[in-house]
Amino acid sequence: MPEIKKYKCALCKKEYVRSSVKAEDYFPFCSERCRLMDLGSWLKEEYVTSRPLKEEELVELANAEGEEKEE
Ligand SMILES: [Zn+2]
Repeated sequence: MPEIKKYKCALCKKEYVRSSVKAEDYFPFCSERCRLMDLGSWLKEEYVTSRPLKEEELVELANAEGEEKEE
């Protein structure tokens, strides 16, 4: 039996189970939805509080966040 670990989503605080580490793992979020919402919210904030970002700058920011992968 693999060990089942519970994690708390960084966005919605819901507890979720990580049964295996897969490519589509959204850690530290429970789902892709939460991951995208979190990323989107701070990118949008950055966008409205400063100059518009170029596309390549957005990519750099996403990479700096650590968990981003190409789709
Ligand atoms: Zn969540």
